[in-house]
Amino acid sequence: MIYTITLNPAIDRLLFIGEELVKRKTNRISKVTYDLGGKGLHGSYVMSKLKIDNLAMGLCGTNNKAALYDILTEKNIRHEFTEVADESTRECYIVLEEGVSGSTMFTEKGLVVSEFEKRNLLEKVRQKVTSQDMVLIAGSLPQNYLISDLEELLYVLKDSGCFIACDLSGEALLKAVEVGVHFIKPNEFELQEIVSKNQSLTENLEALSERVDCVIASQGEKGSFCQYQGEQFQVIAPKVEEVNDTGAGDCFVGAFLSMFYLKKPIEECLRFASGCAASKVKNNDSTSFDIEDALDLQREVTINRL
Ligand code: ATP
Ligand code: MG
Ligand code: MG
Repeated sequence: MIYTITLNPAIDRLLFIGEELVKRKTNRISKVTYDLGGKGLHGSYVMSKLKIDNLAMGLCGTNNKAALYDILTEKNIRHEFTEVADESTRECYIVLEEGVSGSTMFTEKGLVVSEFEKRNLLEKVRQKVTSQDMVLIAGSLPQNYLISDLEELLYVLKDSGCFIACDLSGEALLKAVEVGVHFIKPNEFELQEIVSKNQSLTENLEALSERVDCVIASQGEKGSFCQYQGEQFQVIAPKVEEVNDTGAGDCFVGAFLSMFYLKKPIEECLRFASGCAASKVKNNDSTSFDIEDALDLQREVTINRL
């Protein structure tokens, strides 16, 4: 089983504007849709779409839990969240302008979690996860969820003997590396925060791989570099017309871990994940991708063993 843990999920409210956004003008919204926010949930979305057994866990507020659960049900995502009393799962507002690529995001800070709820989550994780499982922890941390809380969660997972994947940034990513998780996928900015500026990418990946089994440094439209079992791969992404690259990394991680969980060879995992992520960037929201399109696009992925 794959478990995803989203500590700070979100309800994304997509606001479509029929023209370019203009200050001091009434910008009329032509359509509003809702989507999943939170990187762990994005991972679960990909896994569920690929029919890989998974359960979405994490923390969510009781005030608007029905809205979050409705979106999860609609997307066929099995979930078992630890509920935080009298709090609201954050909402994110994403403005999409007609004819303009990319989006503008406004995000709330998110939950305030009590010690009791932190314990509840740890207990649930301890009860469920076994050495056969894979766990993805992804996304930002709630306001008062400390790095020491993350560390405790990581050690509970380590004790279970499961495969631990982390899509985190900053201090949280540093902690994951220090604890020695099994997979990380920093993007260019996230990588800069955890490596030496005086070393080359190759050297930095080698250094990280002393602690983390599989390290993937993603570089947006250029593709990615992967260090795994003493080998390094350059992955060149297929050329596509980019509509919105938000969530490309999340889609990549979900697809990669799905294939890795099925014990597919590393190059196959990288190729398929790159195909799925390339399909994602052709869509204007942060989750949609098409499996058939991904299967076509993966043929255009070039992988060089360095
Ligand atoms: P996220 O918004 O999900 O956090 P990220 O910044 O972590 O994304 P990126 O490095 O932007 O991740 O992208 C991840 C992968 O998605 C890339 O390695 C590449 O394979 C694919 N990708 C991203 N942008 C493009 C693009 N314009 N064309 C083709 N593939 C892309
Ligand atoms: Mg990016
Ligand atoms: Mg990312």
